[in-house]
Amino acid sequence: MMLRLLIPTVVQSTVMLGKIGLEEHFAIPETVDVSKGPLPADSWEELRMRLLDIQDKRLRLMDEHGIEMMLLSLNSPAIQAIPDVKQAIDIARISNDYLAAEIAKRPNRFAGLAAVPLQDAEAAAKELTRCVRDLGFKGVLVNGFSQAADPNRPLYYDMPSYLSFWEVMERLDVPFYMHPRRALPQDSRIYEGHRWMTGAAWGFAHETAVHALRLMASGLFDRHPRLTIVLGHLGEGLPAGIWRVDNCNAWAIKKHDYPAKKKLAEYFLANFYITTSGNFRTQTLIGAMLEVGADRIMFSIDWPFENIDHASTWFDAAPISEPDRLKIGRTNALRVFKLG
Ligand code: ZN
Repeated sequence: MMLRLLIPTVVQSTVMLGKIGLEEHFAIPETVDVSKGPLPADSWEELRMRLLDIQDKRLRLMDEHGIEMMLLSLNSPAIQAIPDVKQAIDIARISNDYLAAEIAKRPNRFAGLAAVPLQDAEAAAKELTRCVRDLGFKGVLVNGFSQAADPNRPLYYDMPSYLSFWEVMERLDVPFYMHPRRALPQDSRIYEGHRWMTGAAWGFAHETAVHALRLMASGLFDRHPRLTIVLGHLGEGLPAGIWRVDNCNAWAIKKHDYPAKKKLAEYFLANFYITTSGNFRTQTLIGAMLEVGADRIMFSIDWPFENIDHASTWFDAAPISEPDRLKIGRTNALRVFKLG
């Protein structure tokens, strides 16, 4: 018997209109150069131009690919990698004021995520409050751990000194987007001789997933159950790994040696959302949908590090149901970030 293969000969290209992108970056002259990394000169020239642009090429591509709105955030690691606390506070403020002025030109196309100086929990809470209450920002995007007085010591936000910051986060009731950055050199020896692995290809996800697990295990979400954390890149590997985190060596009689009261997957399902930024892979999306559900996944690009057309062309044609496409592409973001 011949099997009839249902391979479509014509790929329909329907652009989903009204998409919202949540992990979309810009830079100011004070921060742009930290994004250079190991890029060759001609690619850096293009990336630099993309980062410094908000109202021109970015907007044209948004129009072309059905992106109604972008939530804009400062490039990485920017504020988090400025060990001089006063300077970190100043640059965060300059960047947030600049972003607010750019949003004011097209408030129906752009909204803001604050940059905050988490070198100092109190200063970060103050700047976040100003951004949300006075500038109308929709949340905060933080580029992983911060470096303060001792730049060789990464400050992770499960440390007790951040409890006052999380209290303010919960009170303001806005999402915290945990964005990747490179691990410090002394914590990157596993990648020695393979610098390519320290960034977006691999190390970013590792570093960010570890930080997210630290928050879960610390008991933060028992103390502040209404906190919302957003992870990019389809969850930095956690949808595929979280079951094993809770269930490895399940035969052994043991008690976890961390303060959290529940299984970590329960926090992942209750307090976390994930976005598609930089991970335009249907198999991975469907795996994540099976693990966390379409209500907790949101479309994003990771512009300008990834292309708007790559993200949109993939997502618009991905073989998922239309109700799920609408949730992931638009309505989850409207709800989670309280847009419009
Ligand atoms: Zn990004």
